[in-house]
Amino acid sequence: MKADYHTDIAIVGAGPAGMAAAIAAAEQGKHVSLIDDNPAPGGQIWRQGGAPLRGAARASLRSLAASRVRLISGSRVVATPEPGLLLLESARQASSLRYDKLIVCTGARERLLPFPGWTLPGVTGAGGLQALVKSGLNPVGQRVVLAGSGPLLLATAQTLQQAGAQVLLIAEQADLRQLARFAWGLRAYPAKLRQAAGLAWQLRSIPYWAGSHVIEAQGKDRLEGVRLKLAGEVRHIACDWLGVGFGLLPNTELLAALGCRLEDGHACVDAAQQTSNPMVYTAGESTGVGGVDKAVLEGRIAGLAASGALAHALALSPRRASHLRFAELLATHFALRPEIAQAVRPDTLVCRCEDVSHARLSAFDNWREAKLQTRCGMGPCQGRICGAACQTLYGWQTAAGRPPISPARLATLLHTYPHTNQTEADLI
Ligand SMILES: Cc1cc2nc3c(=O)[nH]c(=O)nc-3n(C[C@H](O)[C@H](O)[C@H](O)COP(=O)(O)OP(=O)(O)OC[C@H]3O[C@@H](n4cnc5c(N)ncnc54)[C@H](O)[C@@H]3O)c2cc1C
Repeated sequence: MKADYHTDIAIVGAGPAGMAAAIAAAEQGKHVSLIDDNPAPGGQIWRQGGAPLRGAARASLRSLAASRVRLISGSRVVATPEPGLLLLESARQASSLRYDKLIVCTGARERLLPFPGWTLPGVTGAGGLQALVKSGLNPVGQRVVLAGSGPLLLATAQTLQQAGAQVLLIAEQADLRQLARFAWGLRAYPAKLRQAAGLAWQLRSIPYWAGSHVIEAQGKDRLEGVRLKLAGEVRHIACDWLGVGFGLLPNTELLAALGCRLEDGHACVDAAQQTSNPMVYTAGESTGVGGVDKAVLEGRIAGLAASGALAHALALSPRRASHLRFAELLATHFALRPEIAQAVRPDTLVCRCEDVSHARLSAFDNWREAKLQTRCGMGPCQGRICGAACQTLYGWQTAAGRPPISPARLATLLHTYPHTNQTEADLI
């Protein structure tokens, strides 16, 4: 099939991993196209639009701007119609891009779990709330409760506090023993330990409750307050925003569509970040949630390896080991406690795209049956949110969705079949 463009190396995702991969590949003289669905590069942690970026973020963005990388912002990869071809959609048009090598750096998303009231306006993911503020939401004077699990709660609290929000408390589901073990494990990572201590100092005025979680978000048309279990005691707190996220899940939908082997929810790679599909490399959160330093290192390795500079790539590879151990530390010590899955009530919606309640889903034994009978997982999120919820609530194994990997316009899908005489009307 004829493509609109050709590139030596296509990179999907312009977060820290994708940017590092693009810069490394461009240094090797390759023609590189870097695609991201956001209006500007940076990914989740280096998202542009709020406070000016500093340090490594600014340096990476400058190197990218100085490189010959072709940046395709505001475009999403929605399908891989045939090997070596990507189908892209932007707000205005569809296009296709042929590549020799592909590096997938699609990052992670928050794990959201249902509880009564979680669909009320004013309740968001914790990282989602951070992204809203970084993109311009004014939180000055707003009362915010953060809950869920993992270091992202602290990073979100910092962003909100600096932006003028009143962060009332952080409820972390991991208990004190889990947190103490995590802190002990951090001694092997002095930079991260210093970062954690700095954050703890900046956030010292915000109560941090371990072994605590949300029971219910309350309000009529909008969030008015939240009921929490704080170290065993039930309390009601009035607030304007509730940000809840239970750690991160790698975005592996594109990798699955490309036939790459996945294990425990992330991609399997060799020392050069190559997947089981020889044309495809992957880096960053897609190989396991481990933070920005891991993403940058893996991105550079993938960029070098995909450009043919294998010896340079493999020379960096041993440094991955400590990042992988850190990823393991996070996963082990922020593991969910069983109470978290018990907050749902029969009428709580688990699949919010298709309005499917816990009562309806609990009648089924597996994901496939539930999908067939209720349309759970078949709405716009394609199971990205409710799939993880069903794994946690019912222990179901969920399968990857079918292409397109995200909702796409019919005109975009037709773009891959330009030589047929089909029209949109033929497809309906
Ligand atoms: C909501 C959120 C907030 C976070 N905030 C922080 C924080 O404050 N501090 C911190 O230390 N860590 C934070 N993290 C973790 C941080 O994202 C990682 O540590 C690190 O940025 C991972 O880099 P990455 O390049 O792998 O992925 P990301 O930075 O997530 O970049 C992936 C990029 O790929 C794009 N993308 C995905 N799929 C497609 C597609 N099909 N087509 C086109 N583009 C696509 C995404 O929009 C994104 O821009 C956050 C994570 C999330 C999910």
